[in-house]
Amino acid sequence: METVAKFICAFCSEENVIEVDISAGMYQEYIEDCQVCCRPNKIKVYFDEETLTPHLEAEYEE
Ligand SMILES: [Zn+2]
Repeated sequence: METVAKFICAFCSEENVIEVDISAGMYQEYIEDCQVCCRPNKIKVYFDEETLTPHLEAEYEE
């Protein structure tokens, strides 16, 4: 099941809309390139256990 979620780029602060797939796990971590500045963000995705709402955090990836 794919859900649309948003994260704020750690480099340029622009909002990115991505799809997250809950079937890949309740906690996920991966690299996603910013759609605006193309720099790599380390994305951490947590799903709320009750509502299954995704929560995203973006960090710099060196
Ligand atoms: Zn960016």
